Amino acid sequence: MKSLRYFMLILAAVVCGNIFAQKSQQELNQLMQERNEYYFTFNLSGNDDLNAIAQTISVDRVDGKVVTAYANSKEFADFQQLGYETTLQTPPSLMEKVAMWDGSNRAEYDWDSYPTYTAYEEMMFQFATDHPDKCEIITLGTLPSGRKIMIAHLNNGSGEGKPKFLYTSTIHGDETTGWILMLRLIDYLLENPDEPEVQTVMNNIDLYIGPNTNPDGTYHAGNNNVNGATRYNANGVDMNRNYADPNGGPHPDGNPYQTETEWFMQFAEENAFVMGANYHGGAEVMNYPWDNTYTLHADDTWYQLISHEYADLCHQVNSNYMNGYNNGITNGAQWYMIGGGRQDYMNGYAQCRELTIECSNTKLPNGNQLPNFWNINKNSIFAFMNQCLYGIHGTVTDASTGEPIEFRDTTIRFQ
Ligand SMILES: [Zn+2]
Repeated sequence: MKSLRYFMLILAAVVCGNIFAQKSQQELNQLMQERNEYYFTFNLSGNDDLNAIAQTISVDRVDGKVVTAYANSKEFADFQQLGYETTLQTPPSLMEKVAMWDGSNRAEYDWDSYPTYTAYEEMMFQFATDHPDKCEIITLGTLPSGRKIMIAHLNNGSGEGKPKFLYTSTIHGDETTGWILMLRLIDYLLENPDEPEVQTVMNNIDLYIGPNTNPDGTYHAGNNNVNGATRYNANGVDMNRNYADPNGGPHPDGNPYQTETEWFMQFAEENAFVMGANYHGGAEVMNYPWDNTYTLHADDTWYQLISHEYADLCHQVNSNYMNGYNNGITNGAQWYMIGGGRQDYMNGYAQCRELTIECSNTKLPNGNQLPNFWNINKNSIFAFMNQCLYGIHGTVTDASTGEPIEFRDTTIRFQ
């Protein structure tokens, strides 16, 4: 019986597990052509034009001399002109088949699988339906695919005079851990009103949470499946290279602003966010500004402080998590330089102190690991939000009219 069970387990692993792995270079090339997204590695020679590389493809990580990158079909063809020998790798979203959840009652969801698109959208609107006094769903827009970019707006009934804080995730559609963390955070804030940590946030912060800002990437293979998710959006564009750049100016990637980028820049202009973070995956590290210049931010010490706080609180739960780099933190450009990133746009133009949180080494972890990521990150997520409560905050009013003063020029967007 024991051996039979063992055999069945192996069989199950073969059937459910690595069904996508071990394709030949030729098969991968065919697959990536169809997906319009190449995922590959190459070695730096020591004599490299890093700017030319970064402007041609989307570098995902650099480990010593080995660079891992993404490219759409055109970018990949252009990159091959530079003469590097590339090795195609199995896309992160096709490593392992993950479980999906297709329920319509959030209370039945155990946060250990990925919602189908319908379940995700329903869950977002159910938050507001169940808690209309504390939560509204802002739809930035509906994409041609029919998928929406949704932001949950939370407070205790009024956001007036409170610092606006923004959490977002999954601008890279195949980096899914932060998406579930953010969904679970909304649920936790709404369902645990007696918790002191919840009260601090709900009573004092005007909070915005966008769990998935690239649904076309996440559901590239269809609304019922996140296996096959892409980093890029439906147009084959890396949206974390698509923003106006304080150093690189408008259109640093040579592409028009994507619909999602336009919506988000408008949203950032209309809301005076003071702090925020954007969740990614593929590494475990706090990445602080700037991403596109080695010049340190004027508040570098503060960025390091809050980055360390996040990583240190994670270490208290699991010392193996976020334990690389400088004890779990890195300056963006010193890690590797990128142009057109959301972080630099938010800091440089939108006056929002945004960080990039790389929250899992595996971009699309098995669903059964998701509760663990929540347990490790939960205290850090709260401490990070609370950072926007330090210092001075409130409403500045006109002495003669008593009306609030608009404190910034909102014409920050490049065309
Ligand atoms: Zn990313």
